[in-house]
Amino acid sequence: MSLLTRNDIIEKALELGFEDVGFTTAEPFDAQFGYLRDHQDEYGWTEKVGLGLMAGTDPKAVMPSAKSIVVLLEGYFREAFPSALEGHFGRCYLDDDRVTKDALALRIKAFRSFLRENGIDSKVPFNLPHRAAAMRAGMGTLGKNALLYSCRAALESSWVLPLTVVVDKEFAPDTPAGGLGCPEWCRNVCVAACPTKALKGNGSIDPRKCISFMTYFGKEITPRELREPMGLYVYGCDRCQNVCPRNLPWLSRERPVNARVEGKAKDFDLRALLHMDAARFKSRVWPHMFYLSPSNLWKWKMNVARAMGNSRDDSYVPDLIRAWDENDDTRLRGVIAWALGRIGGKKAKDALGRFLAGSVGDVQEEILAALGSVQESTRTA
Ligand code: SF4
Ligand code: SF4
Repeated sequence: MSLLTRNDIIEKALELGFEDVGFTTAEPFDAQFGYLRDHQDEYGWTEKVGLGLMAGTDPKAVMPSAKSIVVLLEGYFREAFPSALEGHFGRCYLDDDRVTKDALALRIKAFRSFLRENGIDSKVPFNLPHRAAAMRAGMGTLGKNALLYSCRAALESSWVLPLTVVVDKEFAPDTPAGGLGCPEWCRNVCVAACPTKALKGNGSIDPRKCISFMTYFGKEITPRELREPMGLYVYGCDRCQNVCPRNLPWLSRERPVNARVEGKAKDFDLRALLHMDAARFKSRVWPHMFYLSPSNLWKWKMNVARAMGNSRDDSYVPDLIRAWDENDDTRLRGVIAWALGRIGGKKAKDALGRFLAGSVGDVQEEILAALGSVQESTRTA
C-alpha cells in the first residue's frame, strides 16, 4: 500500500518542472462523451484517424484499476521562440518531443517512476479529455477560444498543456473550476479574430474550420477562399491566443530564447521547407512536427507556398518557380500559381505564362485566376 500523500506528489511534480498539479476522480467525463456523440459531423474524423477520443472519456476503460487522475500542467511557452518561427508555426508544436522523447517525455517518465517506486501504478493516455480533466481538478477555466486558461500558473494564461496521469490510488479530489472565465468587457476578441470562423463564441470550436486542423489534416488543395485568411501560418495557429487579453501579461514579459528551438530554426526556414526532399523531411522536420507523413510532403509545401504568397515578398518568386519545376503534384502546383499571382510583378507573371502552356484542368484554372490577379496588381502598382 502506498503512503504517498497529495503533498508528496505536488512537491515531486513541481520539482520536475511542471507548472501546477491537481487531482480529480476517475469518474467518466459524461458531458464530454455526450458532446462528441452529438457533434460527430465535427469530430467523427478523430475516430477515423485513431485518436479514440470517445473511449478516452472513461478513465476506467483506459486503466481498469483507475482510482484518481493527477493532472499536470506543462508550460510550453516558458522561453521565447525565434520570431520567424512564431509567425509560421503554432507555439505548442515548436518544442514538441513526442517523437524524440528527450525533454518533456523524460520528466513524465521520472514522475511515473516516482509513483511506481512508491507503489502506485499509472498510465498517461493521450486520449483523455485533458482540458476537462484540468477543469475538474480545479486548475483552469475555458476561454471562448476553446482553450484552457490556468487558474494559478503561467500568469493565468493559456500557454499551458494539461497532461493526465491516471493512477490506481485514490486521492481527495480538488474542487472543480471550469466554465468560461472570460471577462465580459473582452467582447469576444478571439472569435472576431479567428480568420476562418472556427470559434462558436461559447467556448467550443468546429475543429474542421481551424487553421491548425487544415494545415495538417486537410485532405485536398486549400480552398481558394481560405488561402488569404490562413495567412502566414504553415503548421498550427496561435492567432486567437495572441489577441486574448487574458494572455497579455504573459506575452508582455521578456524571456530568453529557447536554445533547443533556435538550434533547429534553419530547418524550418520557408525556403528550406519548400525545397526539402523526403530524406531531409524525415530526418529534420518529421521528428518535430509529425502529423504529416512523408507521403504528404506536398501538403507541407503547399502550406509553405501559400504562406509565401501571403507574405507578398517578391524575393520568394524564384523559389516558387523552382518549386514548380521540382514538383508535379497538381495541388501544390495550384497553390504555387496562386502564390505567384498574390505576390505579383513581371517575373511572377512571366512564369505563370510559361506554366500555362503545359497545364490542363484544375492547374490551368488556378494559373488563369492567378494571371488575373497579377494583372490587377500590376495595374495598381
Ligand atoms: S487557432 Fe487560429 S484558426 Fe484555430 S480557432 Fe484559433 S484563430 Fe481560429
Ligand atoms: S479573447 Fe476574450 S473572449 Fe476570447 S478567450 Fe480571450 S478573454 Fe475570452
